[in-house]
Amino acid sequence: MLQEDRSGRFGHQREHAALLTFGQFEGPREAGNLEAHDLAPAQDKGRIVKARAPHGRQCHLARIPDGLRVAAPCRLGEAAVGLVLRSTLFAGPLFAGPLFVWLGLRHGALIMPDKRASAQNAKNQAARLLAWYDVYRRDLPWRAPAGSRQDPYRVWLSEIMLQQTTVAAVADYYRRFLARWPTVEALAAAKQDEVLAAWAGLGYYARARNLHKAAGVVAREWGGRFPETAEGLRALPGIGPYTAGAIAAIAFDAREAAVDANAERVLARLYAVETPLPAAKPILRAHGQALMPAARAGDFVQALMDLGSAVCTPKRPQCRICPWADYCEAARRGIAESLPRKGAERVRPLKRGAAFVARDAKGAVLVVKRPEKGLLGGMLEPPLGPWGERFPTRAEALLQAPFDAGWKKRAGIVRHGFTHFELEIEVYAAEIAARPKRLGALASPRWLDASALRAAALPTVMRKIVAHGLDDGGPLFAQAKSARSR
Ligand code: SF4
Repeated sequence: MLQEDRSGRFGHQREHAALLTFGQFEGPREAGNLEAHDLAPAQDKGRIVKARAPHGRQCHLARIPDGLRVAAPCRLGEAAVGLVLRSTLFAGPLFAGPLFVWLGLRHGALIMPDKRASAQNAKNQAARLLAWYDVYRRDLPWRAPAGSRQDPYRVWLSEIMLQQTTVAAVADYYRRFLARWPTVEALAAAKQDEVLAAWAGLGYYARARNLHKAAGVVAREWGGRFPETAEGLRALPGIGPYTAGAIAAIAFDAREAAVDANAERVLARLYAVETPLPAAKPILRAHGQALMPAARAGDFVQALMDLGSAVCTPKRPQCRICPWADYCEAARRGIAESLPRKGAERVRPLKRGAAFVARDAKGAVLVVKRPEKGLLGGMLEPPLGPWGERFPTRAEALLQAPFDAGWKKRAGIVRHGFTHFELEIEVYAAEIAARPKRLGALASPRWLDASALRAAALPTVMRKIVAHGLDDGGPLFAQAKSARSR
C-alpha cells in the first residue's frame, strides 16, 4: 500500500507541489472513503475541489474534515459543501451530531463519522512523509543508498556518536572510526585507549567506553551480528530506549518509534502538544508510534528526523512546503514556533579549581590518567586540584601542585560546560629543565610531546586547559571543538 503511494498517487514532493498549485484531486482513493486531505489542498482552504464519488458520479465538495467520510454518492452538480470544521475532535458531540444531519439534508449525501479515519489518516500521513523523504532525504555518511539495506554496525556506530551531538560534529569522527575499524569485530579487537583517543573531542566519553564494551559483546556472544529487536539491543552497554528503537527501526525495519529532538519538535507541533518537555516525551512517542507505517519503518523514523531538521525547524518552520501542513494543529493555530514547550531550565552549579601544565626542555607535557569510573573516566588530563565553590588561593594551589617548580598563574580562566555543572579552571604553568624523579601519588603519569598530545585521549576541556597553559597551545589543539546537540 505504501509502496503504491510512493510511486503512484502522491508520487513525490513535486506532485504534492502540483496539488498545492492546482488545488485539485481527481479520482477515488478508495470507494466511499474520501480523505480530507484529498479534497483540501494545503494553503487553499477555501477552494472548492472536485472529487469522484463511489459510483463514478462527480460531486463538488469543499473541505471534508478529518474523521468524516462520504458514505453515499452526491448528486451530480451538487453545490459545494461549506464545511468549517477541521476535525470532529474539535467539534464536540453536541455540535457534530446536528452538523451531520444538516449536511445530509442539505446535500443528499450521507456524511458520517468514520471509525476507520484515524487509522487511514495515519496511513496517509505516513505515505506523504515517505514520499517527501524519497525526494528530500539528507545525504548522511552512515545512510545506505535509497532502497538498500542499512548495515547494523554503521547504524549502531552513528547512533551512539549522535547521542547529544550534532550531525556536523559526528561526520568526521564516524568516517575515521569506520576507516580504522570497518567491522564490529575489528572494533572489539582494538585497545580501549585507542578507542578513547579516537573519540577525544566528541564528548560524553562514557559512550566510547560502552561502545568498545558493546563491540566485544556483539563479537563474542552474538557472532558479530547485532540483536534485531529493541529489547535485545537494550541489553548491550550504552544503549538506552531511544537508541535501541532507532537501531531496530533503521537497521531492521522494526516498528519502533525512535523520537529524537527533531522528531519531538515535529510531533509536538503536529498534535499541538503543550505539555512541556521532558514530561511530554511519552505522549510524543505514542503519537510517533501511532503514525508508524507497516512497511518502511526505518525510513519513516529517519524521515521524521529529516523533516524536523530541514523544514520544521525550531525557529521559523517552513509550513508552506511541509508535507504535513494539512494535518498540523500547531500551524493551524499559529503556535508552531512556541512548541515544544520546555520545562524550567535547571541552574547548573558552578565548580572551580586549578590545573597544572608542566612542560620539560624537550617540549613534552605531563599528563595523568583519570579513574576508569565517573566523569571523563579513563581519559588523560594535566594534574588537577580538587573542584569546589571557589578558586584556591595561590598558596593553596601550590600545595595542590604535583611537584615544586616555578609555577606561574596564567591570565584568564578556562570555562567548560558539563551536563550537570559548569567548570572554571585557573591554569598554573611551569617550564622545567629536568623532569622530577618522583611524581608522588599521580595516576599513570606520562610525558607527551606535541604529536603524542594531539593523538592522545584528551577530552575537549583538558585540551583547552593544556592549550591555555602553553604559549603555543592554540595551534596544537585548534581542531578540538565541543559538540553538544544533534
Ligand atoms: Fe512543522 Fe509547520 Fe509542518 Fe506543522 S506544518 S509539522 S509546524 S513545518
